[in-house]
Amino acid sequence: MNIHEYQARELFAKYAVATQPGGVAFTAEDAEAVAAKLGGRIVVKAQIHAGGRGKGTFKNGFKGGVHLCDTPAEAKDIAARMLGQVLVTHQTGPDGKEVAKVFVGEAVDITRELYFAILLDRATSAPIVIASTEGGVDIESVAEHTPEKILRLGVNPALGLMPYQTRQIATMLGLSGKLMNQAGKLFTNLYKLFIESDCSMVEINPLVVTGKGELLALDAKFGFDDNALYRQPEILAMRDKTEEDPREVAASEFSLNYIGLDGNIACLVNGAGLAMATMDIIQYAGGSPANFLDVGGGASKEQVFAAFQIILGDKNVKGILVNIFGGIMDCNIIATGIVEAAREIGLKIPLVVRLEGNNVEAGKKTLAESGLALITGENILDAAQKIVAEVKKAA
Ligand code: ADP
Ligand code: MG
Repeated sequence: MNIHEYQARELFAKYAVATQPGGVAFTAEDAEAVAAKLGGRIVVKAQIHAGGRGKGTFKNGFKGGVHLCDTPAEAKDIAARMLGQVLVTHQTGPDGKEVAKVFVGEAVDITRELYFAILLDRATSAPIVIASTEGGVDIESVAEHTPEKILRLGVNPALGLMPYQTRQIATMLGLSGKLMNQAGKLFTNLYKLFIESDCSMVEINPLVVTGKGELLALDAKFGFDDNALYRQPEILAMRDKTEEDPREVAASEFSLNYIGLDGNIACLVNGAGLAMATMDIIQYAGGSPANFLDVGGGASKEQVFAAFQIILGDKNVKGILVNIFGGIMDCNIIATGIVEAAREIGLKIPLVVRLEGNNVEAGKKTLAESGLALITGENILDAAQKIVAEVKKAA
C-alpha cells in the first residue's frame, strides 16, 4: 500500500523528521487559506500516488504538478488548475491520475538536492539505504549514467542503522558540521519510522539543504508491506482506494490474491505456485498474462463468481485460462462459480478450462451442461497453447 505525501508528513511529525510547514487542501479556496496562513512564497503540489509530478503534464495541457507561487491568490489559481484534472507523469502511465487534493507548503530556498531512501533488499532480506548527491532527478537515470554517485549500504536488522553508518552516508553526501548532526538524527528517525511502520520503501527525493543550513525532507514516497497492515491500523486508515488499480480493489474485497498485469490472457488459478507456473507457461506458449489470480485453497462459489466478474470486466482481457488443481478445492465449486458469472455477465471471449483433482467429474459435468462455449485443456501446456491460439485467432 502507498500513501500520499501529505499523509507521510503525519509520520514525519510523529518521528521528528524535519520538513517544510504546510497543509493539504481539497479545494482552491482551502489552498488559498493554507497559503495565507503560511505567508511568504508557497509551493503547491498535486497529490497522487506517483512521482515525477514536477515534470508531469496535465491532460488539459497545463504543465507541472509542482508550482511555486508568490501570493495566496496565485496558490488558489494554481490549485484550481490542478484539482479535478488528470496528471500524467513517467510513473503514472499514459492514463495518468486524477488530482483530488493538493499540498500547500512553504517554499524553501534550496541550495542542494540530495536523494535518500530505505528499501527492503530482497537479495539480503534486510533493509538497505540508498543515498546520492544527485537528488531531485530520476534516480533510475542516475543509476544508469553515473552509478558511482549512488551509495548502497546494507543494514543489519538486528543492530539497526548504526551511528557510524549515518556518518558514512552524511560524508558521502558532503554534509559536515551541523548538517552532519542533522543528518544523523534524520536518518536514524527515518529508519525507526521505516521499521515501526512496516514500510517496504521510504524515499525522500529531494532531501534538501536550505540557505539557512537546514536539512529538510521535501518529498516523501512511502510503500508499506500489505501483509503487515493488520497491525498498522493508523496506516491502513490512510488508504486511498481511488489511487489503486480498481481490479485489485475489487479483488481485495473478496480476499482474492490478485495482481493486475499488462497482457491480455486472464488466469484463474488456485494456489500461488500454480498461478506462477500458469503465467510462465502462457508466456512460454507465446502469450501474455493479464493478471495473477490465486483464488486460494478453499474459495467459495461467491469468490469464484467475483473473480470471474473482475476478469470479464477488464477491457484488456481477450481470453481466459482457468487452471485448477483441486486438492482442498472442490472443482465443482469453481465450475459453478464460472458458469454463474458467465451467465450473468455474458462470455464473449474464448475460455479454456483445465480441471484436475477433487470432485473433477462433477465439475466437468457442470461445465458441459452449462451450454457455455468453452474449450477443454488436457494438461497445463495444452491449455496454455489452446488459449494463446484462440486469442491470436480472434485478433
Ligand atoms: P516530484 O518528485 O513528484 O516531481 P517533488 O516534491 O520532488 O515532486 O518536487 C519536485 C521539485 O520541486 C523538487 O525537486 C524541488 O526542486 C521543487 N520543490 C519541491 N518542494 C519545494 C519547496 N517546498 N520549495 C521549493 N522547491 C520545491
Ligand atoms: Mg521528488
